[in-house]
Amino acid sequence: MNNEDLFKNIIGHSKEYGFIFQSSEIYDGLSAAYDYAQMGVELKKNIRDYWWKAMVQLNENIVGLDAAIFMHPTTWKASGHVDAFNDPLIDNKDSKKRYRADVLIEEYMAKIDQKILKEVVKAAKRFGESFDEDQFMATNPNVLRNVEKKEEIRKRFVEALENDDLADVRQLIIDLEIACPISGSKNWTEVRQFNLMFATEMGAMAEGASTVYLRPETAQGIFVNYLNVQKTGRMKIPFGIAQTGKAFRNEIVARQFIFRMREFEQMEMQFFVKPGTELDWFEKWKEKRLAWHEAMGLGNEKYRFHAHDKLAHYANAAFDIEFDFPFGFKELEGIHSRTDFDLTQHEKFSGKKLQYFDPEENKSYVPYVVETSIGLDRTVLAVLSASYQEEELEGGTSRVVLKIPPFLAPVKLAILPLVKKDGLPEKAMEIFNQLRFDHNIIYEEKDSIGKRYRRQDAIGTPYCITIDHDTLTDNAVTLRDRDTMQQERVPIEKLSQIVEEKVGIKKVLESIG
Ligand code: ATP
Repeated sequence: MNNEDLFKNIIGHSKEYGFIFQSSEIYDGLSAAYDYAQMGVELKKNIRDYWWKAMVQLNENIVGLDAAIFMHPTTWKASGHVDAFNDPLIDNKDSKKRYRADVLIEEYMAKIDQKILKEVVKAAKRFGESFDEDQFMATNPNVLRNVEKKEEIRKRFVEALENDDLADVRQLIIDLEIACPISGSKNWTEVRQFNLMFATEMGAMAEGASTVYLRPETAQGIFVNYLNVQKTGRMKIPFGIAQTGKAFRNEIVARQFIFRMREFEQMEMQFFVKPGTELDWFEKWKEKRLAWHEAMGLGNEKYRFHAHDKLAHYANAAFDIEFDFPFGFKELEGIHSRTDFDLTQHEKFSGKKLQYFDPEENKSYVPYVVETSIGLDRTVLAVLSASYQEEELEGGTSRVVLKIPPFLAPVKLAILPLVKKDGLPEKAMEIFNQLRFDHNIIYEEKDSIGKRYRRQDAIGTPYCITIDHDTLTDNAVTLRDRDTMQQERVPIEKLSQIVEEKVGIKKVLESIG
């Protein structure tokens, strides 16, 4: 199956099994807004909990916050969002489709990368064991030509963006002969800047009402509260503040399901450090965050670091963690060293001192900040796309199974009486009532046992427990593993402990703690 079909199947499956619906579907939907249904909401909550525990529970010097979505409008002046939270947009005159000019160019560069990769794979096959990738990269003329071409494009692109030279961004698109994927034409408009913030009015009357924004990132709620938290929590630098919550961006092109939405959820942590130590902390957080991702067990090869081509004016280091989605490697999380830019701006605009008194240094300073910022929805998509599998089984049958990491699965356990009579449902309910205090579990008695297994596979339930006639005498049940489909007989009295070991979050946290 090609990746495009795979992605379509994942979207279809997410709807069919109650993970994700289009928002306001009965009105033909609202673009780039999605609703999480009964399964999706559990998966999302489990990922959020995993992040929260890894950040707040495992780090003594990180505390949580839940700031309001609405903030004083000056916040967004100070942060630079009112003046500069823009994306460059371009329209194709024939298809009337709108694109992000920077994305068109980045996709062009990604195609060059793919060409290089193809050469490497081809050569590795040809040379077999004796293949030396570094040497090949340094000497092969096709590779060298493509690397040079990409570097030239990158340089010109970054320069154009840095100088706000939108005419040259357009010229680059023309020079590279980039065509609209819909119309195939190269008939482009000028490039314009477009502000991504949603604005609304606060207050009843137009008169006296003021324009407020739906926050485009959660981070500013942390910055404006940093001193409150530091003082009331008696925090000593270095320390962090973690927050999860909705953010809103009027994205120019919202495609690719929950990858790019106009309303989405972020999980952000700002780590306040002594000036001069920020690059050490930046490296530490890069490693820690990658370890968090890898501990989910989706496959370490699915992640890679990507250094930003162009640093924001306030940052002195920035890396993305990218994930191998069905549509290629794309940003999942950003790790940024933001210097003292935000706090200094808020000092300037509010007229309040936001300095920290360092008792060890015996002086006051504005802390530097290292930020980790991850999209919760993108993580849900990463988990779904890595977990979705269509498997051929013996006997010519097949199944769709979501191999979601057990500690993140929406339902941990299904309790299934083999038949709906002979006292089996009653026994099954007894076990259900015993285990429901530990985990989110379900009871099902409808349909054949085979069909019930398939349904649980499709929603990613890691274990099924079957209660049969022997259970009534031997007090044991059959435990079926979703991934291997192996079954084992286990005593009821040991169930709680066995299940906790298999689906609990503790061992995952221990592996990164
Ligand atoms: P992109 O380059 O993809 O637009 P960004 O660099 O603007 O993303 P950040 O501002 O660094 O993103 O936001 C931090 C994280 O928030 C991203 O890594 C991503 O996971 C998530 N995110 C950003 N925009 C969206 C969106 N429109 N929909 C879903 N998640 C998003």
